[in-house]
Amino acid sequence: MDRLGIVVPCYNEEEVLKIASEALRGVLNDLIVKDKISKDSFVMFINDGSKDATWSLIEEEHSLYPTQVFGVKLAGNVGHQFALTAGLNVAKDMCDMSVSIDADLQDDVAVIEEMVDKFHEGKDIVYGVRKKRTTDTFFKRTTAEGFYKLMNGMGVKTVYNHADFRLMSKRAMEQFAEYKESNLFIRGIVPLIGYETDCVYYDRKERVAGESKYPLKKMLALAFNGISSFSVKPISLITGVGAVIVILSICAAIYALVSYFTGTVEPGWTSLILSIWFLGGVQLLCIGLIGQYIGKIYIESKHRPRYNIEKVLSDQ
Ligand code: UDP
Ligand code: MG
Repeated sequence: MDRLGIVVPCYNEEEVLKIASEALRGVLNDLIVKDKISKDSFVMFINDGSKDATWSLIEEEHSLYPTQVFGVKLAGNVGHQFALTAGLNVAKDMCDMSVSIDADLQDDVAVIEEMVDKFHEGKDIVYGVRKKRTTDTFFKRTTAEGFYKLMNGMGVKTVYNHADFRLMSKRAMEQFAEYKESNLFIRGIVPLIGYETDCVYYDRKERVAGESKYPLKKMLALAFNGISSFSVKPISLITGVGAVIVILSICAAIYALVSYFTGTVEPGWTSLILSIWFLGGVQLLCIGLIGQYIGKIYIESKHRPRYNIEKVLSDQ
């Protein structure tokens, strides 16, 4: 029977921890009774350097349910993406599949069963996708949806309306651990792993208690990080703008020369205006060109796995 590990990053979540623990243990027990996961399946809370009582609550839950509730304490706050990665890396050696979910239970715990069913059907990654965002504020909804569109426009493949609520098999977690980059955007990496994937759909709820740990500033940082760690398109844009300006400068040159020969200009104007346009364009083009190389160095420096072999058929 397959062991499930539910991985939950927590930052200042004292208000929701007990509720989350109860709900997730409920899910485990239900799935154990239905014979879908092994009896030693667990919930693992990752304390991301919380300043409140989160860790002591995790310790308390662990002493109450030592076989079901586990805890990992990070030495300081590293942010949601790294906290989740730490959790997945610890969990991958202990379970056959993991489900990552936020502590605030905004994601529907009821669809974990569907995820596990899909795992048994042979899927390695199952994404939790939000049906609609009626419970989010208008602002959060439009900024978040704009974010997915921008990401896709920039060439970063992500699953639309999917956050970090997903099931991963052991081998998917192992491959994920091969991505050792520090500019970490998990949602961009997971689709690169490959394997058979699927989605389950759910309605996103409001936070059970406490408030969002993702204010606008952190959201913008995540968006920028997502784009800059996956795409060198912004650099290509600069090169493109440079090329356009060089072309424009040629048009400007024709205009300036015509004005010069028709004799309606001040002396010196033609050479001045031509130099400004042309040099500006050439400079942008060169910066873009240098940028292209820097972009390549950036990609090389990540040492990402270049492929993921799923199976080999041979005579061995
Ligand atoms: N979180 C974390 N470290 C941080 C910020 C957030 O581990 O520095 C956790 C948080 O406890 C929650 C999850 O990341 O379990 C998502 O955060 P939140 O629900 O506040 O984000 P939102 O749903 O508002 O985007
Ligand atoms: Mg939340």
